[in-house]
Amino acid sequence: MTFLVDPRGFAAAEFKTHISTLKWANWRPQFVTLHNTAEPNLKQWAHFGLGKAQGAQRIRNLNTYYRKLGWHSGPHLFVAPDFIWIACDLEQDGVHASCFNKTSIGVEMVGDFSTEAFDSGDGAKVRDNAVAAVAALYGVLKLDPATLRFHRECKRDHHDCPGARVDKPDFVARVKTALAA
Ligand SMILES: [Zn+2]
Repeated sequence: MTFLVDPRGFAAAEFKTHISTLKWANWRPQFVTLHNTAEPNLKQWAHFGLGKAQGAQRIRNLNTYYRKLGWHSGPHLFVAPDFIWIACDLEQDGVHASCFNKTSIGVEMVGDFSTEAFDSGDGAKVRDNAVAAVAALYGVLKLDPATLRFHRECKRDHHDCPGARVDKPDFVARVKTALAA
């Protein structure tokens, strides 16, 4: 079971420090798959307020839901406007995109970016935290950000994920800039 009982929320710099200690001895991810949660969307997520206590409860609820589906794991990360949440063991394979589960880390951005803004307000905060998280993962795993996949590239899942407002070339360019910094 790879669901974390005590999900942890990190600021971007803390996240980078934390994952620098990981080894990926048993499972070596080859890239990151990017998602949006769609439900909850950003408005729903923020309804009870942001913060560590609220975020941790959200993640526990999501993990409980995935466990009830009979999954051995869920997506690895949830990226909120305020924190980067580790929901499932990053050193084990997750469940998030049928084509890419065995080969990638699943990163969920909180929001529905088919309708919610990704370039302003909380959406831009999610974007910037997601760029930081993905750049940290690519840095520690020594992978090329050009390998990033969007969930919608897994055609058989028929999900327009992470939402039409998320532009892949722009996102990859931001990750490359963050890695070079
Ligand atoms: Zn997805």
